Amino acid sequence: MATKRDYYEVLGVSKSATKDELKKAYRKLAIQYHPDKNPGDKEAEEKFKEAAEAYEVLSDDDKRRKYDQFGHAGLGGAGGGGFSGFGDINDIFEHFGDIFGGAFGGGFGGGFGSRGRSGRQSVRKGSNLRVKVQLNLQEIVQGVEKKIKLKKKITCTTCNGSGAASPSAVQTCSTCNGSGYVVQVVNSILGRMQQQSPCPTCGGEGKTITQKCTSCYGEGIVDGEETVSIKIPAGVGEGMQMNVAGKGNAPRRGGVSGDLIVVIGEESHPELQRDGNDLIYELPISFPHAVLGATVEVPTVEGTVKIKIDEGTQPGKVLRLRGKGIPDVNGYGRGDLLVQVQVFVPKQVSKEERKILEKMQESESFTPKIGKNGFFDRMKDFF
Ligand code: ZN
Repeated sequence: MATKRDYYEVLGVSKSATKDELKKAYRKLAIQYHPDKNPGDKEAEEKFKEAAEAYEVLSDDDKRRKYDQFGHAGLGGAGGGGFSGFGDINDIFEHFGDIFGGAFGGGFGGGFGSRGRSGRQSVRKGSNLRVKVQLNLQEIVQGVEKKIKLKKKITCTTCNGSGAASPSAVQTCSTCNGSGYVVQVVNSILGRMQQQSPCPTCGGEGKTITQKCTSCYGEGIVDGEETVSIKIPAGVGEGMQMNVAGKGNAPRRGGVSGDLIVVIGEESHPELQRDGNDLIYELPISFPHAVLGATVEVPTVEGTVKIKIDEGTQPGKVLRLRGKGIPDVNGYGRGDLLVQVQVFVPKQVSKEERKILEKMQESESFTPKIGKNGFFDRMKDFF
């Protein structure tokens, strides 16, 4: 069995710590190692559980006394390993709901927001909304803030989302006395068991509405619009998704709004093609420029730049303009602009041009060569 750390050491408090000091110390650790803040971090999860366990024991007078006297062994079970601990993170939320409620203001969605302490009704969550946002290359390179008008369910302003015609039209459910659940005794193969289920009268809300709001027909939500401002970081790409918490549909009769899922779409650029974080530009140059060299203009996202084409540049050559590509969405530098040289071949020429070309054709400089002793060299020797 792995050695357990001392509970006071875990919380970083002295053996004489007051209840308040314990609570403060635990809250601090719980916030630091909260799974929502450290997604996928096993070590943080272990620390989170360890702190919860320490607090669970030290905040209980009886358990604390036993622990002070006998250490971990004092908590019962074989060899001190009998402490039940917390099987999973959600148990911790259930157990210390009030502490988290205060620390996080209920702001954590999903894992915590949707569950409270046992006995409390679960928090309703509105449905998620998806919206596609088309971005041009410049917006992708620079990052952009987009204002999006959303058609969505919004809280009814007539009843403030309660669904009731007036505050007095909301009454405590008489079936469940406001608890939201009913207890039934059922006979099963394991014997008689108590089973808790949501109240059939109020659907688990604990409240009934005697007169419904006429604007929303008791739903607490109506069709509406909201303009949402969304900051999109540089470097995003086609199909990427961003989750904006709380900007989805409002929930029915109180609770938290769903999320807005923003799906990125990418408009194609007339000249620049994207390849990961690099951009590709096909640069057509004239045959004389390829032979003699030249300075030409190349488009980039930030405007045109001039580049030098060397004498004797071959078709297909790739010139790399460092840092002229797309910034990495995770902040790992910026891609390049790859300029692929294409030599433009005219489809028609004038009589005069034809003469010049025919003359060039006779010149040895215009005879293709394949290295030393290549095919063409050998043919020359042969004749
Ligand atoms: Zn209403």
